[in-house]
Amino acid sequence: MTLNLKNMRNFYSTNTFGAIRSRWSNNWSEAFFKLLFPQACKSCGVIIESGDKGEICPSCLAQITFLGTPCCPVCGLMFLKSGGDSHPCGTCKSTPPFFSQARSLVRYSGDVGTLIHSFKFRGDLSSLVTFGRWAENSVFSSLTPPDYIIPVPLHAKRIQERGFNQAALLAQVFFPQQKNKIKHFLYRRKNTTSQTQLGGVERRRNLKKCFALYPDVDVRNKIIYVVDDVYTTGTTVNECAKVLMKAGARCVEVATLAMVVRENE
Ligand SMILES: [Zn+2]
Ligand SMILES: [Zn+2]
Repeated sequence: MTLNLKNMRNFYSTNTFGAIRSRWSNNWSEAFFKLLFPQACKSCGVIIESGDKGEICPSCLAQITFLGTPCCPVCGLMFLKSGGDSHPCGTCKSTPPFFSQARSLVRYSGDVGTLIHSFKFRGDLSSLVTFGRWAENSVFSSLTPPDYIIPVPLHAKRIQERGFNQAALLAQVFFPQQKNKIKHFLYRRKNTTSQTQLGGVERRRNLKKCFALYPDVDVRNKIIYVVDDVYTTGTTVNECAKVLMKAGARCVEVATLAMVVRENE
């Protein structure tokens, strides 16, 4: 975590002082505390009045689409325009993935992107509190109880640069009661270039044989979650699912923070 004023404030407001604050019951001390350490919206930076509602302001929260039904029961793609029943989407019908179902909490948008960016690239870990809240009573409740929860691995070199694997931290806040099931069974064989600028075909080529299981790992007959930050085309999580299914897993399900849902779908 880089040490700058913003992070210092986030640290104090969510850790040491947060604990002290919770013990203060009288209103004036609370007000005084907020004056000293005002909480800013993680997305737009405006000072949050209510303080206790979360880490983003109500108007930014209102811009975020929480995913639900009707959706594709396989990849979780929400049909934003049609009001009909859930049904498999064209992509899942023509090319069934290796995972049996995937669910994402929110639709990827500018605001969500800002939160993810500050978390991933600026080491602002306080956004995790928000993501954890989003996961409570969410679409993740439709997933099957797992034996193992496996974060999409980063290459060792990338972990060294960043200091953490964002998927591993997400797994912890998504499934706080099941932290003991989080296992780092997969690793990345090659340090792939960033997927962001690539199209579907290039993504698949880029990630081909990219993931592997550690040799001493046994996943036979296990129900496994794969966790990642963003579901764009599903190629990354599908490559992980492929490795796990080929190693004998009973089924693989996917939990991601955000999904890219295009307007016409
Ligand atoms: Zn805001
Ligand atoms: Zn689908």
